[in-house]
Amino acid sequence: MNSASYLALLDEGVLEHRVEELERLLERCTVCPLDCGNNRIENQLARCFSGRLPIVSSYTAHFGEEPPLVGTKGAGNVFFGNCNLRCVYCQNYQISQTHKEQIKNEVTHERLSEMLLELQSRGCHNINFVSPTHFAPQMARSILLAARKGLRLPVVYNTNAYDSVAVLQLLDRIVDVYLPDLKYADDDSGYLYSKVSGYKEYSRLALREMYRQTGDELVFDENGLLKRGLVVRLLVLPNDIGSIAESIEWIRDELSPRVAISLMAQYYPTNQAETNKRYVLLSRRIRETEWLKATAALENLGMTEGWMQEFDGAAYYYRPDFNDAETPFKDIRDFDSL
Ligand code: SF4
Repeated sequence: MNSASYLALLDEGVLEHRVEELERLLERCTVCPLDCGNNRIENQLARCFSGRLPIVSSYTAHFGEEPPLVGTKGAGNVFFGNCNLRCVYCQNYQISQTHKEQIKNEVTHERLSEMLLELQSRGCHNINFVSPTHFAPQMARSILLAARKGLRLPVVYNTNAYDSVAVLQLLDRIVDVYLPDLKYADDDSGYLYSKVSGYKEYSRLALREMYRQTGDELVFDENGLLKRGLVVRLLVLPNDIGSIAESIEWIRDELSPRVAISLMAQYYPTNQAETNKRYVLLSRRIRETEWLKATAALENLGMTEGWMQEFDGAAYYYRPDFNDAETPFKDIRDFDSL
């Protein structure tokens, strides 16, 4: 059975204190860099439309993640409702941008902890919290409750990278694997396409903290399953929105050339990117030339760790209900030439 770092915190009697410190941030919410200051303990809502309790739109064994997260039995995905960002091309917008709908998926911390134990009993190899930023305190509370009842799986923090460093510091050794989606290398794109200020600055501060905690080494178990580490996802967008090469260069120079990258080709226009002329630059899939430019950047910048999707058919994979047995990712080293 996989072991997880939060178990040591539980044994040391530290885990509960961390959870309480995280929950105190809800009283005048500073759980993400938006710092809305609303009292979520009293269910005052702000930018993410989220209150005291977690909102879980679905939980399932998922096969659309990177190979060492999927293994043979799948990643134990928990899809949170709502989000602190408003990406106009969000491929989960049905759950991230429909708060009036999502409220019906509000659950207790106990119920969420039961979901984690259920995923473990189904044989999932980890608990993969998808879009957890705005529910980080609730996530931590559910891990505490589940760990007391036998949860042993590694925790994956699958985030949009618009995270608070103070929160990440409290999640140190609660989270085993950080899986940030580094969206942009400039603030203007963050503001136009995800409706937040300072995306470049905050996401890079967050990645520095994640890297401080995990370093650049990926830790696998005897079955090749990922137990600990940092994997930075880079979704290639049309018209090089997000400036992939700049992000790769920043990772190489400011973190390490050995940080694992997961390069993704699955973008397809949906949500407002499909309908609103204002976002015409995002209104098509990527071209093969754009994909090859991104893969060439990986090679030219000497990045050798990680995974990438195959260009052909990649967009087919990305749906919350995707559950084919084969993961869409290949090891970066498997490609005969990048
Ligand atoms: S988590 Fe939600 S309420 Fe809290 S600061 Fe972020 S957007 Fe605002």
